[in-house]
Amino acid sequence: MKLANGSTVAIVGGGPGGTLSAIFLLDLARQLHVQLSIDIYEPKRYGCTGPTGCNMCGGVISESLIQMLAAEGILLPDTVVIDTINAYILHTDRESARIDAPRQEMRIATIFRGAGPKGAEHQTPLPWQSFDQFLLEMAIEKGACHLPCSVSALRREEGFPVVVAANQPGKRYDLLIGAVGINQRKSLQLFENLGFNYQRPATTRAYVAELYYGADQVQQHLGHAMHVFLLDIPYLKFAAITPKGHYATLVLLGDHIDHEVVASFFAAPEVKKCLPQGWTIPVQPCHCQPNIVIGPARNPFADRVVMVGDASVSRLYKDGIGSAYRMAKRLAFTALAHGVAANDFQKHYWPVCRSLLWDNRLGHLLFACDHLFRLFPLLRRAMMALLRREKCLDEGVACPLSSAFWNTFTGSATYLHIARELFHPLTLWNMLRMLRPGKKSHSQKELQ
Ligand SMILES: Cc1cc2nc3c(=O)[nH]c(=O)nc-3n(C[C@H](O)[C@H](O)[C@H](O)COP(=O)(O)OP(=O)(O)OC[C@H]3O[C@@H](n4cnc5c(N)ncnc54)[C@H](O)[C@@H]3O)c2cc1C
Repeated sequence: MKLANGSTVAIVGGGPGGTLSAIFLLDLARQLHVQLSIDIYEPKRYGCTGPTGCNMCGGVISESLIQMLAAEGILLPDTVVIDTINAYILHTDRESARIDAPRQEMRIATIFRGAGPKGAEHQTPLPWQSFDQFLLEMAIEKGACHLPCSVSALRREEGFPVVVAANQPGKRYDLLIGAVGINQRKSLQLFENLGFNYQRPATTRAYVAELYYGADQVQQHLGHAMHVFLLDIPYLKFAAITPKGHYATLVLLGDHIDHEVVASFFAAPEVKKCLPQGWTIPVQPCHCQPNIVIGPARNPFADRVVMVGDASVSRLYKDGIGSAYRMAKRLAFTALAHGVAANDFQKHYWPVCRSLLWDNRLGHLLFACDHLFRLFPLLRRAMMALLRREKCLDEGVACPLSSAFWNTFTGSATYLHIARELFHPLTLWNMLRMLRPGKKSHSQKELQ
């Protein structure tokens, strides 16, 4: 069961998981002199502002992913990169600490998944381009066919997957790739009902809002830094405000993000410092409450069917696009070099999903440690003091705590790597020193 000359592939979903799968399949097929016919089913119009064109995300791309994409010949143009970030500012209820990029080249890009927030359409032509549109166009350039419609049914005929869309009778394929994300229940159900015991990943709700500040106010209040908040607000696990041109993207993560949590967040004094003076929260900012993956899917492949991206697994709370990249690349290699039987996916594709899955288990543990910092103010203060101390150290001196935070927020490294930095004897020893009475004032002196 191998893809060969003339083989057909259906990709349901044209987000990063789907388009990167198409790009890698077509690139590898060309190298192997195999002619593939790839259809990407994607109804979303990425050229539209607001929800119509958006795949709901914080829009932060780690520098490691930018480099990996560049190595594949996928160079993000300036119109896609809205802003670059070179620092994180961590705010707690009492103090703030700045974590700069460990090296000058370690910058992060911010992007819009669609054509930008609702209401941005009055700026014509729009000064930026959708990230998802850019990838879709690249897949089309390489030979994929984009079908701008939603898939309404899936079935099998003589072992081959059949895709039904736009009231057509159905088209048979050699390989079906499910890249439907996790925000459309019906689409996930189509795969769950296909008879291979696929079960969608566990998810929780998030909140994303695009806040219009204006470019000057963004510079003044946020600069080129992402502002991360460790606040004692019930149900709120993580909060960040990211600069994006004229806008600031707010992302809240937690199990029950509702209006009350959002209101408590905006009312926090540390948050108010990051808002323009006199600025009032828009009654209806461009916002959404997408699902975010917190667990893996079950049985994400079968003969001639494979799930990729969020519909399979994603790195916990970060780097979802990077996870989709890794899976898409391995999927293409498996399908062309080994085959499209369940066994092939098990042997050659599953290891990349499994490594994400194991790393996420460690991620869950690290996020549990975050509770400790919330529970014990002394610990939190020691952490902030150590972050500030590390900032004053000479270039080249190891700063494991700052590095752990940088990697946590950017998604540049695995949770295993972060755990090693966080529980590094030097980090623990320095934290202990910061807990000593009188150390706080000393570290504040160091700051000045
Ligand atoms: C709040 C939040 C913040 C995030 N922030 C970041 C971040 O900063 N950086 C990062 O890397 N990741 C982030 N992510 C994760 C990231 O959004 C996902 O990991 C990524 O979008 C997964 O890509 P995908 O292609 O698998 O799915 P998606 O991007 O969801 O794409 C799925 C596509 O399938 C299409 N589709 C669905 N059903 C059908 C159908 N029946 N027929 C045809 N098409 C269909 C949809 O229209 C959609 O375009 C965030 C996620 C959330 C929820």
